[in-house]
Parts: sequence; structure tokens; C-alpha cells
Amino acid sequence: MDIAVMAFSGGMDSTSLLLRLLRNGKTVYTIGFNYGQKHLIELSRAQMNIEYLAKQGYDVTHSVVDLSSIMSTFSGSLTSADKVPQGHYEESQMKSTVVPNRNAIFASIIYGYALSLSTKLDCKVSISLGVHSGDHAIYPDCRPEFYQKLNDAFEVGNWDSEMVGLDLPYIDGDKISILKDAIISCDKLGLDFNQVFANTNTSYEPDEDGRSSGKTGSDIERILAFDAIGRKDPVTYQEDWESVLTHAKSIEAEYMDKVYREKLTDMQYQVTRNGATERAFTGLYDKHFIKGNYYCVCCNHLLFTSVGKYNSGCGWPAFHTEHKAAQILRVADYTHGMVRVEVKCSKCDAHLGHVFEDGPREHGGERYCINSAALIFKEE
Ligand SMILES: [Zn+2]
Repeated sequence: MDIAVMAFSGGMDSTSLLLRLLRNGKTVYTIGFNYGQKHLIELSRAQMNIEYLAKQGYDVTHSVVDLSSIMSTFSGSLTSADKVPQGHYEESQMKSTVVPNRNAIFASIIYGYALSLSTKLDCKVSISLGVHSGDHAIYPDCRPEFYQKLNDAFEVGNWDSEMVGLDLPYIDGDKISILKDAIISCDKLGLDFNQVFANTNTSYEPDEDGRSSGKTGSDIERILAFDAIGRKDPVTYQEDWESVLTHAKSIEAEYMDKVYREKLTDMQYQVTRNGATERAFTGLYDKHFIKGNYYCVCCNHLLFTSVGKYNSGCGWPAFHTEHKAAQILRVADYTHGMVRVEVKCSKCDAHLGHVFEDGPREHGGERYCINSAALIFKEE
């Protein structure tokens, strides 16, 4: 038997993970934890999905562990009377949503359960965790190195630990790739994606009817992930989807602006975020012909290589060809009484410069006239 044990919180990541395990033909045992969280509704949503899956022919053995008597006394805004903060999920005020040592407590129980199952069923059991690269610095107990060290300790402290192993299928992914994975699973398992994700909760602050506010950090992250895969989130929000999406995007934009202001020089910021142009013949990469790659200064997206660069004499770095995977955006620009084509980074929307049709014919006839301040060069 191919057995997997996992924590099933009723959120997006664990729901996607459960689908993935079922898709891979595993027999799955899940545990939900009542730790006195304000968003206890996640557990009933998890139960709804367990029932939905059973109806579709996928049986999952689900248990709920009640730790609320002790953990509801723990500090942090998820379990105490403190207000859950609103805003961006990477902001430092989100630290109040950390429950002390939560994942170590959960992992201990999961490990004991997995070991016991391996003895009972006389087979190896994998512990699947939905940790991913997008888990944020403010949640130190989501880091893979933490789980690895915990696992080392569990191995030292138990007999037969070779019967249990860790499985981290989302370790290189993020919320967006996890949702895409869930779409694949639903297709393969014949499940209704919207039904499954309507039976989830990500909000730290749902109202009495279980509707998400759309305002807490976890809400914002979820809303942006659904938007990124081109879908409307099927859970019910207190406001309509357009309003929660607009709000989430404005929080993201505000946050990213802060990040760019901290990270970039004034010139880099003015060029990339405000569409300014550096003075001709002043940029770092104008007469720069070393072999290597040019990346977006804001987001590190690969835009050009030295192979596509040439000396146009115009005073700005000129390229006749973009990198094949750059997918640089082109936007009509009518400013300064001219009709031009602005070029922008497809990943972060940074203004890069313009593209003109007076480039070298043998390379297609285009000239990308790019601000040095929008680029970062790395030698090959
Ligand atoms: Zn970029």
C-alpha cells in the first residue's frame, strides 16, 4: 500500500496537496487541528471536502485533533483577543499571526501517527507537507530546513523511523503553481475545481457566516493567486469579487512600491516605475559590450543578452533582439507629442524604454532603446 499522512487544515495548500496525493494513487490519512483558531470554519470546510471526495469515490481517513484547551492560551492574534492585522502578507505586522511553535506541535503528532500506521499496516508511510518557497520569512516554522531538522530529531528519538519519510512536493513552488497543480488533479480525478475550493477557507478573519473579509494578509495572497491563474475565487467574500480583487491589487502595488523604493536608486526608480528617461550618453550600459545577460533591475527577469546588443550611437543601450523568453510588453505611447511604442517588463511592468523601427535590417529591423537604469548586467 502507498500510504501518505498529512495535515489537512482546510486551506488552499493542504487541499491541493490532498488532491495531488489522491491523483498519485495514495491512500491518504489526514489530520485537522483545532488549536483555538478564530477561523475554526476551516475545519468544517475541510470536512465538507472530505465528504465531497467520498461522494466522488475517494475515501480519505480524516481525524480532528483538539488542542484548543491549551493552544487557545497561546499568544498571537489568531488565538487571542488581539485583532488580526490587515494588509500585505509580507509586512512585519503579520508576525502577530504566528502561533508559537505551532508547526512543531502538529508535526510531532503527525509523525507519531505515521509511525503507528506503518507498524499497524506493516508498510512505509510518507508524511506529505505542503511547504513551498512562497512561505514567508515571518513564518519561520514553515521553512524546509526546520522540517528537516525536526525530522532528524524524530529519527533519533524513535524506533523504526526508517519506515517514515518526508515528502515535500511543493518545495519549489508557490501559491500560483500549487493552484495550477490542483487544476490538473481535479481534471484527472474528475472533480469540480470550484466546488473543491468553495470548500476551503484561507481568511484569518471570516465573519459569522464564514465569509472572508478579503483584507487579511492570507486573503490578499489567495485572491492574487486566483487572479494570476485567471479564475474567480469560488469562496464567498463579504464584498463582490471585483471589489476584493481591486483591494488586493492595491495592497500589492503599495507594498511593491515600498520594496522598489528601498531597493532601487532614485534614477532606477524614476525610470522603471515612473517612466522617466535617463539623459543620453550617461547610462552605464550604453557603450558596454561584454558577453553576458541583461536582467530587469526590479525583478531580475532576463530581458536581453549581449548577442542581441549593438552600437546604435543613439546614446542609450540598443538591442535588435530580446531574449526569446523575455516576452517584453509593447504599449502605445502618445506622450511628448510623439507616437512611440513603449516597452515594459512582462513580469513586473517596469518601464524599460521604447522600440523603434530603425534597427539593423539583418536582425529584423528593430531597435530596442533601453535605459541603463532599467537593467542589471551579469557577466557570463
Ligand atoms: Zn521586471
